[in-house]
Amino acid sequence: MVMTVAIDGPAAAGKSTIAKEVAKRLGYVYIDTGAMYRCVTLLALKKGIDPKDEKAVETLIPEIQIDMKPNHVIFLNGEDVSEAIRTREVADNVSYVASYKKIRLFLVEIQRKLAQNVSIVMDGRDIGTYVLPNANVKIFQIATVETRAQRRYKENLEKGISCSLEDIKEELEKRDYIDSHRSFAPLSKAEDAIEIDTSFMTINEVVSEVIRIVHNKMENING
Ligand code: C5P
Repeated sequence: MVMTVAIDGPAAAGKSTIAKEVAKRLGYVYIDTGAMYRCVTLLALKKGIDPKDEKAVETLIPEIQIDMKPNHVIFLNGEDVSEAIRTREVADNVSYVASYKKIRLFLVEIQRKLAQNVSIVMDGRDIGTYVLPNANVKIFQIATVETRAQRRYKENLEKGISCSLEDIKEELEKRDYIDSHRSFAPLSKAEDAIEIDTSFMTINEVVSEVIRIVHNKMENING
């Protein structure tokens, strides 16, 4: 049976960590849609295009070629950008780029194609509400902004990236605000999504909970 699992939620709620692990344990394909918006943002920055200039960013569409390889390696126009899309500069600008309708329509088409005929776990902001409204399982993963900032801060330190906790908190809040206030496909919880507050849960607990929900759903489908 082909299953589709959508995981949405605010920035740094741990969606990709959970989505990757759930996909691994269930043998599903993991699709990181945030990485795609980050690729477009990186391309704009590289070309000296202002990410706040909608018309200029839209002109990039014909030259965007994104390949999601196994092991979470992401190629943009033939170049491995897995690290380059995670910089602070990209994070600071991605929500502007992601608010442009033409950019979203272009990427959503790719996302829907990737989800055809294969079991997937897809994470993002609008997966349950817009990209895959018929997903079998919809999770809305949240955590307090303090917890999310702390987790990102720790992650950065482990990677040797120096940063301030206050700065990270500000960046997450700004992104969440823009993502949930844009007019087209904003970040919001689908009516039929199950909310999981991960603030006081371990990764393993969240993964087990999502897998339990998926198995329950499969049993219901099979009768
Ligand atoms: O998931 P991640 O934090 O990497 O996403 C980066 C940005 O991409 C988000 O802050 C949001 O602006 C945008 N995004 C989106 N819709 C998605 C996934 C990500 O608008 N489905």
